[in-house]
Amino acid sequence: MRIGDLDIEVKRSKRRKTITVNIERDGSVNAVAPFDCDEGAIRKELEAREYLICKHVANRKAVNKAHINRNFVNGQAFLFMGKSYNLFISETAKKSLEIVDDKFVLKGSCLPKAKETFIKFYKKQGLPYLQERIAHFSELVGRTPTSIRLIELGGHWASCTPQHTINFHWKCIMAKPEIIDYLIVHELTHLKYPQHTRQFWDSVFSVMPNYKEYENWLHDYGVTLSLDS
Ligand SMILES: [Zn+2]
Repeated sequence: MRIGDLDIEVKRSKRRKTITVNIERDGSVNAVAPFDCDEGAIRKELEAREYLICKHVANRKAVNKAHINRNFVNGQAFLFMGKSYNLFISETAKKSLEIVDDKFVLKGSCLPKAKETFIKFYKKQGLPYLQERIAHFSELVGRTPTSIRLIELGGHWASCTPQHTINFHWKCIMAKPEIIDYLIVHELTHLKYPQHTRQFWDSVFSVMPNYKEYENWLHDYGVTLSLDS
């Protein structure tokens, strides 16, 4: 649906009673409307919110500009658990990729597949770390996932399935430990309350009173957790 300069994708949901507007990380906008809401009413509602939506989109685009463009060259900084390590491409390295002191050492022959090699590293290092932190927070939240996975999740940091599997984007492991903890608490709480209801946020707050700080960080700086453009 076209509203002023905005193209808004309108989705329908049987569960929704009101119209909600989402501004995605890339600046695209979508709206979720109740299943039986007519087109005219949706248009009216979106037009009323046009100014605010535009403001948020502009803000999102400014944040995206802060996005770091990384290349796999010597000296380029890459993240692991909130710390920055400079890349060193070594012809004599034995492992595909490892952290040695303050460097990410990438085996020269892995350079053509550098991105895949990094993703593999994040997944391999990230899984045991997440398992340990989840065991800790499971007790506090009172829920335990059936399994956890580190996968490519597109525009999402994490998600959980009706079978109580928690999926994390492999990018999460680039964030500092507090942010990872917040993502864990958020998803574990979804095993209790699937929607972002009042009870959901109250429950997150009870485990992590300063969660808003991490939520804001992800909103403002989440784009920096990236391997490329
Ligand atoms: Zn959520």
